[in-house]
Amino acid sequence: MPKLEEINDPETLQQAAILLEKTVKRQSKEIVQLRAENARLRGQDVDPQMELELLKEQLAAMRRMAFGDSSERRPRTDGVAHDKEKEPRRGHGPRSQPNLPIEEVTHTLPEDERTCSFCGGHLEEMGDQTEDSEEITVVEISYKLIKHHRQKYRCSCNAQVVTASGPDKLIPGGRYSVGLAVHVAEQKYLDHLPLERQVRAMERRGFLTDSQTQWDQIDALDSHLRPTYEALLRKALDADVVLADETHWKLMAKKGQTSKWWVWCVVSDEIAAYRILGHRSTKAAGRVLGGFKGVVSVPGTTISTCDFGAGPVTTR
Ligand SMILES: [Zn+2]
Repeated sequence: MPKLEEINDPETLQQAAILLEKTVKRQSKEIVQLRAENARLRGQDVDPQMELELLKEQLAAMRRMAFGDSSERRPRTDGVAHDKEKEPRRGHGPRSQPNLPIEEVTHTLPEDERTCSFCGGHLEEMGDQTEDSEEITVVEISYKLIKHHRQKYRCSCNAQVVTASGPDKLIPGGRYSVGLAVHVAEQKYLDHLPLERQVRAMERRGFLTDSQTQWDQIDALDSHLRPTYEALLRKALDADVVLADETHWKLMAKKGQTSKWWVWCVVSDEIAAYRILGHRSTKAAGRVLGGFKGVVSVPGTTISTCDFGAGPVTTR
């Protein structure tokens, strides 16, 4: 039999390969028998069937290496397109959400708002014409993509076109619902669930996102809630008598480390207000009680009358 590397005819090569395969199979069986005999001589237990299965697997792996799957071995001709797919997504613009169920909501004008302000005529629906936008929201810790279609209306005089209003947004034109922002903030601040961990939980439920996107929601929520928060602090400090106390508060610092911060509370007979500060110094107390004049009760110490001077409460 000539050397394999000297054979050029495909048919002859195939015959040679078949012959080799038969030889390998026969030798595999012999190896199993020899291993079993060897084990018996050493007094060890042996399962020849298992050994045979193992060898069959090894043989299959060798065949794959030798002949391969034609599609695996073929050089890629679509390299450019493939690379493009792999290119990392930049920024955090709209991302397709193939895993989210879709709900369609049509917003229509109430009947009493369908009057043309120019001529008093009746505003008629403009066929299928809607202003469309998407909103991602959360429903009992499942996520979905809502497609909003805001119906447009026009009058037969052609002087007026009115579009029905859509959902309220924290960020004008934003893609995420108010409910989603509240959900993220609740998990972060009430459940102490870091954004990275929330993102993992969201992706398990089909919502493809990242921690920066979720931080943006909290930031938007903050701008809306801060005036109320500061008003609550001011209202607490309007009282004649308040209770003040502080306790330590762990914050995530650099990798795996935490830093010790302090959460302060000011309690009046109506309000309990909290602030988180980096220290518990007199200066910190001044920031918490800024503008307060009256009696402060601090647990473990005597009740004292304080005047922290004027100055509005600012939390930024
Ligand atoms: Zn009109």
